[in-house]
Amino acid sequence: MLRTKNLRREYGSTVAINDVDIEIETGEFASIVGPSGCGKTTLLRMLAGHLEPTSGEITLDGADIVNTRPKDRPTSLVFQTWALFPHMTVRENVEFPIRAAGREVGRTVEELLEQVRLDPDEHADKNASELSGGQKQRVALARSLAYDPDILLLDEPLASLDYALQKQLQRELADLNKALDMTFIYVTHSLEAALVMSDKLFVLNCGNVAQTGPPEEIYQSPESRFIADFMGDANIFGVETARTDGGDATISSDQFTGEAAIGADHDYDEQNHLIVRYDDCEVGPTLDSDLGIEVTVDNILVRGNTVLVEGTPDATDEQYVAEVGFEWYQETDLDIGDVAYIQWDAEKSVLVPE
Ligand code: ADP
Ligand code: MG
Repeated sequence: MLRTKNLRREYGSTVAINDVDIEIETGEFASIVGPSGCGKTTLLRMLAGHLEPTSGEITLDGADIVNTRPKDRPTSLVFQTWALFPHMTVRENVEFPIRAAGREVGRTVEELLEQVRLDPDEHADKNASELSGGQKQRVALARSLAYDPDILLLDEPLASLDYALQKQLQRELADLNKALDMTFIYVTHSLEAALVMSDKLFVLNCGNVAQTGPPEEIYQSPESRFIADFMGDANIFGVETARTDGGDATISSDQFTGEAAIGADHDYDEQNHLIVRYDDCEVGPTLDSDLGIEVTVDNILVRGNTVLVEGTPDATDEQYVAEVGFEWYQETDLDIGDVAYIQWDAEKSVLVPE
């Protein structure tokens, strides 16, 4: 298990990583996600040994590795730009860093290329400059695997590829992680990528881990407004709450109609927000669910087998959204300009602090 404790990195007065504790099991596909500038690269470079922590611990299976040099760590880092030597062949690119480090290539170049789905007969002796972007990425990945690391660290490695290729390589990376039984730690600002590949997510906010868990858990049960915002596809309301018995809170708001008791497991004195996912909302001319907001429908977007209904209430220019089934939509006469309720049952919503 790879573990950090109170890991911290300052740049002058900037705290890039603020006393972070993470735990990653051997073989896990863990992603570190968060908006640009939140400290992802800083954290990854400390794990790789390329950047010295200001304070804190990094342990691997209980052994302190903070002072271990990068080449002596069982880690291999894949960069955002896959810097290959253009005049060297694919084979030379894969072997070069290993030889330069005075190490033996543990697996044959052929085997490594096959692992990253490049046909060695066709590509091993080509110049790197003859490859497409996606093929270059595969070679760089093969080069990182040539070290035979226990932990592969990837910093936004797909950022420069087109969308279809990103999707394909995401699936391949997830497969490779399982096939090699190697720990992968993947850094990205793209939540979509992280959701597809990961066993576990760490969502960073300004140098702090805002929430940790399996992707579906974070998606369904955000613990703060920040997380709900970052995960997207959710309506967020400010609410007033009042304590009732049994830990439930009675909530109401000047932003929506209705009142309901919902479970809440944190301090009600905190600033509270009610989160409801788009696909947990329905639309109708009257309020039939526990809670709802009257809007004028200003957009209807067909998204395949679901439909996004976007509407704005009278008093604000804030837009709210319901994601409804295509079949339901086909059977209604809902149209742009209609006044309707975007509505949901209280149990579908989550109460969170800022
Ligand atoms: P991310 O990878 O999530 O975009 P970074 O780890 O690159 O974030 O940066 C985190 C914070 O640290 C940012 O505020 C960034 O400006 C700052 N930072 C990163 N590298 C340096 C550096 N070499 N010197 C000064 N500040 C830095
Ligand atoms: Mg970065």
